[in-house]
Amino acid sequence: MLQQTQVGRVAERFEAFVARWPTAAGLAAATEDQVLAMWQGLGYYRRARRLHEAAKACVARFGGTVPRRAADLVTLPGVGRYTAGAVASIVHGERTAIVDGNVARVLLRVHGRALDPASRSTQDWLWSTAQDLVEQARSAASVNEGLMELGAIMCTPRTPRCESCPWRPRCVAHRDGTVDRIPVVAAKAVRPTVHWETLVMHDARGLVLERRSDHGLWAELWQTPTIEHDSVADARAFDPNAAWPEVAGIVEAGAFTVVTSPRRVAFRVWSAKPPKRLARGWQRVGPELLDEHAMSNAMRRVLETASFVRPTADARAARSHGAADSRRTLAPEDAARPATRVRSNNRSRREG
Ligand code: SF4
Repeated sequence: MLQQTQVGRVAERFEAFVARWPTAAGLAAATEDQVLAMWQGLGYYRRARRLHEAAKACVARFGGTVPRRAADLVTLPGVGRYTAGAVASIVHGERTAIVDGNVARVLLRVHGRALDPASRSTQDWLWSTAQDLVEQARSAASVNEGLMELGAIMCTPRTPRCESCPWRPRCVAHRDGTVDRIPVVAAKAVRPTVHWETLVMHDARGLVLERRSDHGLWAELWQTPTIEHDSVADARAFDPNAAWPEVAGIVEAGAFTVVTSPRRVAFRVWSAKPPKRLARGWQRVGPELLDEHAMSNAMRRVLETASFVRPTADARAARSHGAADSRRTLAPEDAARPATRVRSNNRSRREG
């Protein structure tokens, strides 16, 4: 849960998740929909699916228990070398290394190597150097945690505290005055922007949703009916009445952009009452069932934009600090609220 998600947000979900599925066997027996619904608000739903698969693998291959050795842990879906090493060394005391961004920065600076930590050859060097350290240490856990803490607290990316660092006497980058050039940071690729139109339709009987396909961004999560444009020209020419002819009284509710790992998604949000007959693939979901329909954080923001739910204080604070996406709650009383028309509210200028 903590991978790429803030501790505060995880704290809200972790206890309930573990209380519901305290064992690998219990989690393995759950349906994917149940797991995704409990994961709501944490984002990166692929992790939830992998965790579910890992629980099934624990049942199938390890007698229902989570393996202890890094070599076994790394065979579980969603468990990489870092997670396997962290669990095996810190929880079970195995003499195995871990390398995260903090460890990489410390090792590269101490050895004076101006390399890109993302490259395969640098990764090989880092893992082998970190493994040498834990082989020589009394406690692999202490070395691993110490290196991570040193990188997080002292050997920071921009303002390292070299004067009080215990490794200063043997740090090559400090000696050579190259600290600010190590590690090498590769230029970031520009994220393309895609343009999506989405229609929020609800009344006292519920909200109209459809399910995303089983591949690509937010696979199999629920969303309000959405049209994804192939080009910016299609977005400019978009006519909601032509796109959704069965729906009357469509009004624009607002627009915003979210940043996902492969791209930026520019949403334009429309709002209307549900038609008498729903189009193929659409489902009306009553307020009492909304929490069982997992949605992306972006879709929660769509619902806020259409005034279907109110943003939480956390969501407002996260956005005011520039976060691209944040957690919201769906309150049943909000779900039952009648539609509210809002003026066009383009918070993030549409691009292209
Ligand atoms: S001396 Fe400075 S650059 Fe070297 S490990 Fe310590 S904090 Fe990092």
